[in-house]
Amino acid sequence: MTETAMQMPLTPAQALILPADAHNRSLVDNVHPLTWINPKPAGRYNLVALGAGTAGLVSAAGAAGLGAKVALVERHLMGGDCLNFGCVPSKGLLRAARAAQETREGEAFGVGMPDSISFDFSSAMERMRRLRANISEHDSAHRLSSLGVDVFFGAAKFVARDAVEVGGQTLLFSRAVIATGTRAASPAIDGLARTGFLTNETVFSLTELPRRLAVIGAGPVGCELAQAFRRFGSDVFLLTHGSRILPREDADASGLLARQFEREGIHVAPGANILRAEKQNGAKALVFQQDSQENRVLADEILLAIGRVPNLEGLNLDAAGVAFDKRGVTVDDHLRTSNRRIYAAGDISSVYKFTHAADAMARVVLQNALFFGRKKASALVIPWCTYTDPEVAHVGLYEKEARARGLDLITLTVPLNEVDRAVLDGDENGFARIHAEKRSGRILGATLVARHAGEMISEISLAITAGVGLGTLAKTIHPYPTQAEAWKRLGDEWNRSRLTLRVRNLFERYLSWRR
Ligand SMILES: Cc1cc2nc3c(=O)[nH]c(=O)nc-3n(C[C@H](O)[C@H](O)[C@H](O)COP(=O)(O)OP(=O)(O)OC[C@H]3O[C@@H](n4cnc5c(N)ncnc54)[C@H](O)[C@@H]3O)c2cc1C
Repeated sequence: MTETAMQMPLTPAQALILPADAHNRSLVDNVHPLTWINPKPAGRYNLVALGAGTAGLVSAAGAAGLGAKVALVERHLMGGDCLNFGCVPSKGLLRAARAAQETREGEAFGVGMPDSISFDFSSAMERMRRLRANISEHDSAHRLSSLGVDVFFGAAKFVARDAVEVGGQTLLFSRAVIATGTRAASPAIDGLARTGFLTNETVFSLTELPRRLAVIGAGPVGCELAQAFRRFGSDVFLLTHGSRILPREDADASGLLARQFEREGIHVAPGANILRAEKQNGAKALVFQQDSQENRVLADEILLAIGRVPNLEGLNLDAAGVAFDKRGVTVDDHLRTSNRRIYAAGDISSVYKFTHAADAMARVVLQNALFFGRKKASALVIPWCTYTDPEVAHVGLYEKEARARGLDLITLTVPLNEVDRAVLDGDENGFARIHAEKRSGRILGATLVARHAGEMISEISLAITAGVGLGTLAKTIHPYPTQAEAWKRLGDEWNRSRLTLRVRNLFERYLSWRR
């Protein structure tokens, strides 16, 4: 970066990318170059993408690759949440946390351990910043520009049903896609603004390990970061107003993870109603009610992870006739908004707030917006995974949902302590569970709790996408020993369950005759 560039005023998001070390400077050089000059709009665009997170990037790059004239508008950092404040930095940190934990548990594998193990938080954060900067090249303004996309920095705002304004310039479009994502929701907790708090936008800028960390919210983000910081050595308190952690997941999966958290020394407070935050002797205190008792937890940092709110402000959606509500932009199954020229994709319009879902939705938009396609978002098979240790992954229906639809169901479970490779790896804390149609074996959904659940769930996503049933899983040869054999075991179990007493008797008679 040049001297002049360094003296330019930073946008709020650039300023969030701290510390201003070489890694973060090269990140900013990629995702919001300080010397960038917006191009002159080149007539009417086939597609204007608002927001350069996953959904905007995939829409813009995909459309340009098909020969369309495309503009991409980003107000802060290209790559959006995933690259800058979400998946990438969090998974970088989780890996370091796992290394710390594996070292602690080394003795179980016969690895001699010194009396004390030191862990350098600032090195782990530096590693994360370096990897994030390296990965950012892919989402960079220069790369998108080299693909033929006109990249504009500035906040996009609709000024007509077919026009967006950015930095004083008007971009006319035939089609547009709103992909402005979400940000961390902040609860109305009295005193929280005075004590200060972290969100996913600031937690990855820490350079010192908080000795005590209070995490509010026990969804995927809260759980992943609670475990990571505990493994780094923080005293972690995880508060949730719900009755359990990962409340949307299979109750057995969340129970298993809760027991793992307890073993690792994470204090979980379910049913916590936070009354106020206050300063106490240089620390931050959270006062909460639990089981009608008032409690107090002291922390050096408070991390908010209670959910997301859509980035709608300033878009001037009324000028474009685009309907929205407090959950985000309203779309139909083809991802079209109330303005037939305008589509929406990603977190801004979906309950599936995942990078791979944003990517898949952008592809639906490309076909529907540019090629008269009739692709439906409801046809997408979207798996997800919480990257705790063990990981919790899911695809398709939960048992409750399948029963509510009146489906005749069979649910099969194999604990990982019955899968040789999981036992040998010391990964037996988990299970694989499949819900299938009783008669046909068609797979309806699956939950997997396993160290590599995020990798292993794809086999079931493929099976659901291809309409493959449990019988085919049973026929599929899996290498021995692998943890994925759990799926084959469930296929075998289904085959066995179909062997009625009558058929079994017939088999027995036939085989005794063959003796
Ligand atoms: C801590 C954390 C960890 C996560 N981990 C995972 C994970 O492991 N796996 C996974 O699949 N998902 C994960 N997610 C979710 C994932 O980050 C999001 O689902 C994904 O980023 C959504 O992409 P998007 O394109 O819809 O929105 P975003 O990534 O939010 O991008 C939207 C972009 O639009 C820009 N914008 C907003 N308003 C305007 C405007 N008016 N004009 C111009 N630009 C605008 C924003 O600045 C932003 O860059 C995680 C999220 C968090 C917070």
